[in-house]
Amino acid sequence: MTLTVAAIALGLAAALVYAFRCWAFPFARCWWCKADGRNAAGYCNACHGTGRRVRLGRHVYDLIRAEYRRGTK
Ligand SMILES: [Zn+2]
Repeated sequence: MTLTVAAIALGLAAALVYAFRCWAFPFARCWWCKADGRNAAGYCNACHGTGRRVRLGRHVYDLIRAEYRRGTK
Protein backbone atom coordinates (compact mmCIF):
# COMPACT_ATOMS: atom_id res chain seq x y z
CA MET A 1 0.00 0.00 0.00
CA THR A 2 2.70 2.49 0.97
CA LEU A 3 4.69 1.54 -2.10
CA THR A 4 1.67 2.26 -4.30
CA VAL A 5 1.16 5.67 -2.70
CA ALA A 6 4.87 6.43 -3.14
CA ALA A 7 4.74 5.39 -6.81
CA ILE A 8 1.67 7.58 -7.44
CA ALA A 9 3.30 10.55 -5.66
CA LEU A 10 6.49 10.07 -7.69
CA GLY A 11 4.49 9.93 -10.92
CA LEU A 12 2.57 13.08 -10.01
CA ALA A 13 5.80 14.88 -9.10
CA ALA A 14 7.38 13.88 -12.43
CA ALA A 15 4.26 15.06 -14.31
CA LEU A 16 4.36 18.40 -12.48
CA VAL A 17 8.06 18.90 -13.27
CA TYR A 18 7.42 18.04 -16.95
CA ALA A 19 4.41 20.41 -17.10
CA PHE A 20 6.53 23.21 -15.61
CA ARG A 21 9.33 22.59 -18.10
CA CYS A 22 6.84 22.63 -21.01
CA TRP A 23 5.49 25.96 -19.76
CA ALA A 24 8.83 27.62 -18.94
CA PHE A 25 10.98 26.09 -21.72
CA PRO A 26 8.71 25.18 -24.66
CA PHE A 27 11.63 24.32 -26.96
CA ALA A 28 13.95 21.33 -26.75
CA ARG A 29 16.78 19.99 -28.89
CA CYS A 30 15.79 18.42 -32.19
CA TRP A 31 15.92 14.59 -32.00
CA TRP A 32 16.80 14.07 -35.62
CA CYS A 33 19.78 16.38 -36.08
CA LYS A 34 20.92 16.67 -32.42
CA ALA A 35 20.32 20.48 -32.50
CA ASP A 36 22.67 20.83 -35.47
CA GLY A 37 20.02 21.93 -37.99
CA ARG A 38 21.54 19.59 -40.56
CA ASN A 39 21.41 15.84 -41.02
CA ALA A 40 23.04 13.35 -43.36
CA ALA A 41 20.81 14.55 -46.22
CA GLY A 42 21.63 18.22 -45.50
CA TYR A 43 18.80 20.42 -44.26
CA CYS A 44 16.82 18.99 -41.31
CA ASN A 45 13.12 18.97 -42.16
CA ALA A 46 12.02 18.05 -38.62
CA CYS A 47 13.15 21.41 -37.15
CA HIS A 48 13.43 23.43 -40.40
CA GLY A 49 17.14 23.90 -39.77
CA THR A 50 16.73 25.59 -36.38
CA GLY A 51 17.93 22.66 -34.27
CA ARG A 52 15.02 23.22 -31.89
CA ARG A 53 11.64 21.54 -31.63
CA VAL A 54 8.50 22.28 -29.62
CA ARG A 55 8.05 19.82 -26.74
CA LEU A 56 5.20 17.33 -27.09
CA GLY A 57 3.66 18.52 -23.81
CA ARG A 58 3.74 22.11 -25.05
CA HIS A 59 1.90 21.04 -28.23
CA VAL A 60 -0.82 19.49 -26.05
CA TYR A 61 -0.92 22.60 -23.84
CA ASP A 62 -1.31 24.88 -26.88
CA LEU A 63 -4.05 22.65 -28.35
CA ILE A 64 -6.02 22.73 -25.08
CA ARG A 65 -5.60 26.51 -24.77
CA ALA A 66 -6.74 27.08 -28.38
CA GLU A 67 -9.77 24.83 -27.85
CA TYR A 68 -10.63 26.72 -24.65
CA ARG A 69 -10.42 30.05 -26.50
CA ARG A 70 -12.65 28.77 -29.31
CA GLY A 71 -15.17 27.59 -26.73
CA THR A 72 -15.30 30.84 -24.77
CA LYS A 73 -15.55 33.32 -27.68
ZN1 LIG B 1 16.55 19.10 -36.66
